[in-house]
Amino acid sequence: MGSPPQLKRIIDSSCWTINILTRTLSLQLNILATGSMKMARPSGPKVRCSGQWTESRFNSFVTSLLRQGTRRWGPLQEVKKAANVSRGIYECAECKEHVPVTVRDGRKRKQNTFVDHIDPIVDPAIGFTTWDEYINRIFCEEDNLQLICKACHDTKSTEERAIATERRKKERESGI
Ligand SMILES: [Zn+2]
Repeated sequence: MGSPPQLKRIIDSSCWTINILTRTLSLQLNILATGSMKMARPSGPKVRCSGQWTESRFNSFVTSLLRQGTRRWGPLQEVKKAANVSRGIYECAECKEHVPVTVRDGRKRKQNTFVDHIDPIVDPAIGFTTWDEYINRIFCEEDNLQLICKACHDTKSTEERAIATERRKKERESGI
């Protein structure tokens, strides 16, 4: 039995989850109605969260929730387990180096290994399409996941960012 404050926290958190699910569902319906939805640019009308957030801020919020959810995604944990060579040490699928899971960064420790989506969650050459696709791609199976070190992750991210920047430039030029 939880004490009343704990119980309240559980109820609050459940209400919050239901709220998010409802909002995500209504967004999905919106997508169904309009066919597809492009990620909104950072500036724009504040139409979300009692007029406090832009569409873009809202998208970041949902994205971050989904990313948090991957911690409880089985295939991701399996990939981590498979790459574990000894206590706290993992083999990078790209460079094959054996690296620690975290490294010292001043007083803190920072993440040094990442579970990477081989085929990225959002294709940088296409950009965001729909939440349906985003969810299916983020919660993918083991065959599309690999554990990589920070150096390899940084390289891949830089390459993907360059492709995305180029695409956005082209989109702007063609007025999409
Ligand atoms: Zn590596």
